[in-house]
Amino acid sequence: MSQKIRVTVWGEYVHEKKHPDTIGKIYPKGMHETIAEGLRESSDFEVRTATLDQPENGLTEKILAETDVLTWWGHCAHGQVDDKTVDRVQKRVLEGMGLIVLHSGHYSKIFKRMLGTTCSLTWREAGEKERIWICNPGHPITQGLPPYFEIPHEEMYGEPFGIPTPDEMIFISWFQGGEVFRSGATWKRGNGKIFYFRPGHETYPTYHQKEVRLVISNAAKWARPEGSKWIDGAPNIPVDKAPEKITVQGESVHKPGETGFK
Ligand code: ZN
Repeated sequence: MSQKIRVTVWGEYVHEKKHPDTIGKIYPKGMHETIAEGLRESSDFEVRTATLDQPENGLTEKILAETDVLTWWGHCAHGQVDDKTVDRVQKRVLEGMGLIVLHSGHYSKIFKRMLGTTCSLTWREAGEKERIWICNPGHPITQGLPPYFEIPHEEMYGEPFGIPTPDEMIFISWFQGGEVFRSGATWKRGNGKIFYFRPGHETYPTYHQKEVRLVISNAAKWARPEGSKWIDGAPNIPVDKAPEKITVQGESVHKPGETGFK
């Protein structure tokens, strides 16, 4: 690959500091640094991290402009993410930046904004086994994976999952307690690709597991921008610029040369 894919790994980074003896032991530098470490195993990426407590939530206009793919992990502090940050991220996704939303990020402001639904689900914390089945072995995100893999201890997420019908189903999970869940799904919004991937409860070492790291790495390659950046500005095309000669008929509330409603 001639040009590296620039990935920004965003982490809420609250649980790890609040629970240094448990969560902090599994993720000493924070979950975001472990996710970033997994991506750095591939030379295809240039990886940086960003956290909630940084200025502008670590996602300034400049950093987002230099980001091809953003990964998002949040849980207890979704409400503390500035709405302006959500606006900036949404704009970049529509322009073509990839967005990978992990685990409890299903309830983040940005995921709900992009999908437009509640994104609710059922859940249980019992450290049960999760078996993740591959729905589409031909998809770039599943390359190198067996027909299914297991995570020994995870939180259960179950249906119904309040998402719009996915463009593509990538994974389905089965849990020891019997529930199933659409645990890997994709959507296109504007020019940007979105992937949701379920695993990653903070009390288990999920982001150290090789299959999980492979999925995130494959997804970051899949989600990178394609084509040129299209900024959707709804421009007016004046009558004299129409490809065919026409005359104005009927009334208009717009003045000549007006660029649109703001
Ligand atoms: Zn969780």
